Amino acid sequence: MKRLIIVAVFFVFTMLSCAVGKSVIKPDSDISAIKTNYHSDKTSRKMLMAGNWKMNKTVSESLSVIKTLKKAVSDVKDVEILIFPSYTALQAINNETKDSNINIGAQNLFWETKGAFTGEISPAMIKDTGCSYVLIGHSERRQYFDETDETVNKKIKAAMTEGLIPIVCIGETLEEMETNVTFQVIEKHMKEGLAGLTTEQATSLVIAYEPVWAVGTGIPVTPNHAQEVHAFIRKVYAKMYKEAADKIRILYGASVNPENVSAFMKKPDIDGCLVGKASLEAESFSKLIKYSK
Ligand code: PEP
Repeated sequence: MKRLIIVAVFFVFTMLSCAVGKSVIKPDSDISAIKTNYHSDKTSRKMLMAGNWKMNKTVSESLSVIKTLKKAVSDVKDVEILIFPSYTALQAINNETKDSNINIGAQNLFWETKGAFTGEISPAMIKDTGCSYVLIGHSERRQYFDETDETVNKKIKAAMTEGLIPIVCIGETLEEMETNVTFQVIEKHMKEGLAGLTTEQATSLVIAYEPVWAVGTGIPVTPNHAQEVHAFIRKVYAKMYKEAADKIRILYGASVNPENVSAFMKKPDIDGCLVGKASLEAESFSKLIKYSK
């Protein structure tokens, strides 16, 4: 009997360790090794919560969520709110949000201004629907649609020429995280994807750190891991664009929800979140936006 109890206790302990090990992912060894003593002044930046609806919702479904969200967040002033609906819903969502505190953006764009590019959308077309932002280089576009740092760079420049603010996604894949090359990957994304910007352009864009291995899994990285990478991003950006590094906003994105958001937002270099699943319903996204209440 005694032996049975010992075996049972051991079994429960092992299962618990596995569960904890799954939800609390240890930082990469190279991330822990870096001395991230570069901290900027977070209070000078307006926090930004962006919802990426991906390929979800018809126009009427989008409108139904936005109407509820608009009411739920009408009192929010300290956080900028942004939604990326599908292209087809942009015009309708713009009509609905015009006089509200919700901004809209497109999930992608093409860098050419016009011409024989069937199926593509130009920066001017996006601007025309009322967008102020555009998402560039999301991991799903890199994974399924051959987006590279080179095309990301062309898209950033085209977007900015039209007055759109790019939110540029960077982040390591599972294989890259497991082989401890997170920092090299981030640095490459930045040096190639964000190259050749003017100081004004470099100051106004937004970067989203999205560890690809945690996007859409429901299991985020730890806030400490995210903070280490964000501080590293700011350091690299300071080398590229000096004071712009203090001014730009760096969002964390991957499995953020109303329960875990405040732990991320407490970190000094996390200036908001890019949210997929938890932005699809007005209730969860409004809770998330009001993380400090
Ligand atoms: C995303 O796709 O940008 C994202 C962060 O998704 P999720 O929140 O569902 O992980």
